[in-house]
Amino acid sequence: MPRQLKAILFDFDDTLIDWGAVNVSWRDIEAAQLERVHGYVADKSKGYRASFEELIDIYWERTRRAWSEGRVNLRAPNMPQILLNTLRDLGADAELDARIIFEIYDWNAVPGAKVFPDVPPALQHLREHGIRTGIVTNASQPMWMRDAELITFGLIEFFPDCRVSGADAGYLKPHRRIFEMALGLLGTDPEETVFVGDNPVADIGGAQALGMHAVRRVNPGSSYNGRVTKPHQTLQSFAELPGILDGWYPEWRGSGR
Ligand SMILES: [Mg+2]
Repeated sequence: MPRQLKAILFDFDDTLIDWGAVNVSWRDIEAAQLERVHGYVADKSKGYRASFEELIDIYWERTRRAWSEGRVNLRAPNMPQILLNTLRDLGADAELDARIIFEIYDWNAVPGAKVFPDVPPALQHLREHGIRTGIVTNASQPMWMRDAELITFGLIEFFPDCRVSGADAGYLKPHRRIFEMALGLLGTDPEETVFVGDNPVADIGGAQALGMHAVRRVNPGSSYNGRVTKPHQTLQSFAELPGILDGWYPEWRGSGR
């Protein structure tokens, strides 16, 4: 007897959020945040003598190295840890309150990034049928940072209890641990959960290895490396998702309120 559909997990970037119009480098995106942090730390720490250029150079070299190692061993870079360690290695007072540093850093949605217009109606439709939804993203920022974007984009209400980043799990997709963390938060089995993402390696290969049905959002802007896994289904628009679910879980529309 086929299992019931209980939840859908979504990749975040290039699946829910369209980055196609963002043409600034990450280093430039983060420069304003880092400059504020640099000013605060220089003001509060007598031992901190770094210039802003030194901070950004060292921070970016460590970030770049963490990502290139992570792509091989699937251990997730942890952005707050990299930044705090860099500040301390440059002489910042170890007693500085990390919470204040990240309030000053004040992460939010990057100008130009926007929600794909097909996303809110699809999430609404799933919710009306009692299907739970979660996010699994290969981000070096914990979700307590990326939540600011979900609030700005008006999406946070759809993901009340399952938002997992690489930094939260310690691992990057396609490692099974990040998927297991999300399934644990939802309390669902892989057979009851569908994964939707744009990356055939991280999203599709990772989800299928756990036994989830995997749907690939075809996004011409997406890039990926590694062995490509064939998805169970592909879609160009989230409007196609209900029909795909009908094929796997014929009863799913009747499971709602
Ligand atoms: Mg993606």
